[in-house]
Amino acid sequence: MKLVKTVAEMQELGRLWRAEGKKVGLVPTMGYLHEGHLTLAKEAVANNDLTVMSVFVNPIQFGANEDLDVYPRDLAGDIAKAESVGVDYVFAPEARDMYPKGFAASINLTGVTETLCGQSRPGHFQGVCVVITKLFNLVQPANAYFGQKDGQQLAVLKKLAKDFNMPVKINGVPIVREADGLAKSSRNVYLDEECRRQALVLSQSLAVAKRLYDGGERDAEVIKAAVRAHIETAPLADIEYIEIVDALTMQPVARPEQQVMLALAVRFKTTRLIDNILLGEEV
Ligand code: AMP
Repeated sequence: MKLVKTVAEMQELGRLWRAEGKKVGLVPTMGYLHEGHLTLAKEAVANNDLTVMSVFVNPIQFGANEDLDVYPRDLAGDIAKAESVGVDYVFAPEARDMYPKGFAASINLTGVTETLCGQSRPGHFQGVCVVITKLFNLVQPANAYFGQKDGQQLAVLKKLAKDFNMPVKINGVPIVREADGLAKSSRNVYLDEECRRQALVLSQSLAVAKRLYDGGERDAEVIKAAVRAHIETAPLADIEYIEIVDALTMQPVARPEQQVMLALAVRFKTTRLIDNILLGEEV
């Protein structure tokens, strides 16, 4: 396993691999790795000639009042974990190397970025699109891997790659959960014991939605109301959104026909958690 710390070195390696005809898999992360990230990495290792994992807490995807300064970091631990699943290169650049003085690029995808987290985190997906475009240009991967955990991000990046004809396949990987159902997240370390216990309502409420859907319910309002009622059994849960959207466009759907994503964002004290479930078959 090799650690790459500069943009220049990463670009040179990407160029070299392209010239050698190597099939490269890229797994972008913000580090503090858990089993979710490692599942993406294993998928990349199994399907490519070599795998690059980036570890970069991307400042431009955080809002002014968000958790950039306290976001958990552990590069030494991340390197050991990445190596244990066969990652070949960890790319961990400095923010000033990725965004030198005078950096001016921005990318705005309409529609798909405007609902769900796009509403509550203005600028977030612009920051995501910029960093991923830069990583794609540096590494030149044939495959990139993203978790369904961040379902809207996955939809946004599929649209980004499609609209810009980027020569990379965007691969989605199912959500990895704790034994009790909580979706794994680097941010789970922020939860105190009581919040951690009450946060179980999220995955439970998705199961409620799935039961209704599988039983034939197709009224989005009925499904969302049942999800809300379950989440509200947790006194510390502060609901930001519960929405049913088309799985590709992220636009609200009143009566699901094609595959939809039921997505939610809920705060427990200062910790904002997201979770989702896909309902219906992929088209
Ligand atoms: P992050 O470090 O939180 O930006 O996540 C990096 C990548 O790992 C993103 O594509 C996430 O969607 C994915 N990821 C994070 N948590 C999970 C999880 N519990 N299951 C599957 N993928 C995940």
